[in-house]
Amino acid sequence: MNYSLKDKLARYIDAGFPIIYLNTFEEDKVDLIIKEVSCGKEIYEWNETNGYIDFETKTPMIEDCTLEMMLDQLKPQEMLDRKIILLKDVNAYLDNPKIVSKIKGVARMINQGVDTTIVIISNILVVPKELEKFITILEMDYLSSDEIKQIILDFIQENGLDAVKDSLVDEFAVAFKGLTEFEIYNLLALSYADDGELTRRDLRLIFDQKQQMIKKAGILEMIPLKETIDDIGGLENLKGWFIRKAKVYKNMNKAKQYGVDMPKGVLIAGVPGCGKSLNAKAAANLFEVPLLRLDMGRLMGKYVGESEGNLRNAIALAEAISPCVLWIDELEKAFAGIGGDGGGAEVTTRLFGNFLTWMQEKDSPTFVVATANDITKLPPELLRKGRFDEIFYVGLPSESEREKIFQIHINKRRPQDLKSIRISELVVKTKGFSGAEIEGVIKDAVETAFADDKKCVQTQDVINAINNTHSLSEIMKDALEKMSKEYENRKFKNASK
Ligand code: ATP
Repeated sequence: MNYSLKDKLARYIDAGFPIIYLNTFEEDKVDLIIKEVSCGKEIYEWNETNGYIDFETKTPMIEDCTLEMMLDQLKPQEMLDRKIILLKDVNAYLDNPKIVSKIKGVARMINQGVDTTIVIISNILVVPKELEKFITILEMDYLSSDEIKQIILDFIQENGLDAVKDSLVDEFAVAFKGLTEFEIYNLLALSYADDGELTRRDLRLIFDQKQQMIKKAGILEMIPLKETIDDIGGLENLKGWFIRKAKVYKNMNKAKQYGVDMPKGVLIAGVPGCGKSLNAKAAANLFEVPLLRLDMGRLMGKYVGESEGNLRNAIALAEAISPCVLWIDELEKAFAGIGGDGGGAEVTTRLFGNFLTWMQEKDSPTFVVATANDITKLPPELLRKGRFDEIFYVGLPSESEREKIFQIHINKRRPQDLKSIRISELVVKTKGFSGAEIEGVIKDAVETAFADDKKCVQTQDVINAINNTHSLSEIMKDALEKMSKEYENRKFKNASK
């Protein structure tokens, strides 16, 4: 039982909050909670399938009653006194101005002192602008490992199954991470149905089902691993840090016994095109685990609440696949605008809260690599110690780093020309170039030399390409300077030596 939700709900009802939106699809569980917190108040229910029904008996109060008709019924004040109005699956009606205005009418009366609470229950969160200030959103919290274990043990007992080894219960608990109680029960029932017991074999089934459930959301992408740590020129501090973490990560049990904490993850922020993504990819390779990319832009759904659902699904999938690296790209896109006014800001704030809680409590081997171009858009709570193991700043490459980046990209395409190209000359001419721009220059030079039927790529070909390039630092000089000052002020670790 999710006590914190029950407590919150009880408090909100007691305090006279007009509309409480329970964002969940665990209807059965919510029914139990509502009953417990109702304190003898009468409960009227409306749902899409049965219309206006008595909450206790689930029999119709009025036959064929639409939501609008039900809301009309509730108009006289005496109808509303000491009541809870439960509206299930009404999200589809919340863009209907008539319905919204009727709900608003009731909410206003509650604000004026009528002892009623409207409780909306839906797994899709739709908050119409007009109702924003009346609605308080409540969500089912993530279940902790202990709560999940308890659900498994209860299931075993209820079904009279043979006792299951503690270690297997632990494995099941990891597999169920990120799922709701309802989903866990269903999967346990499914696992049990095939041979009447819970065995290690069922873990596979759970994993497949879980992956299926979450893949449908389509917000995570599995990235093929090609880049290694050797493909990164410079950024020695960051690379060294990854190498150390990889040692812990690959020997997790031993490290834990030694007293080492489970690595959480890293935030890499800084100038575009300087190897942030490259590092995420190389890290997964180094850790020898899959890389999942979470696109924060895609996560932000069109509907209020969609984003939270998406985040929850993405986290659940990552945890199902863990050990893995979860690469959260363009972190600032999702969390910009926190603490501002309006519905959008509220969504962002909640999304951010969910993410922080997960980062804080995460005990699965899901290593987060978050990348961001502009940390000034990120909320300070995220940058506080303890959320990430470390925050690195990636700046424009130094001279020696540019030399290495040139070597890497020439070696990739024209290893035979590596010796004859005078890299030191190129390094001087590319002050202010990013790694991506250096790569672009090499690509250009190689293509031009080929088109001109040259036998090999020469230094001058690369210089020509450099002369044709307007580097980002030229175009965005002030912005980049401001950015690097900001990072210095905040004392983030420099990814370079
Ligand atoms: P953005 O913020 O625009 O996504 P980013 O910092 O993530 O940029 P990357 O995508 O990692 O930059 O870099 C783009 C490409 O530039 C890389 O795939 C790589 O080929 C090259 N590159 C950037 N930095 C380096 C580097 N330090 N060493 C070698 N190649 C680099």
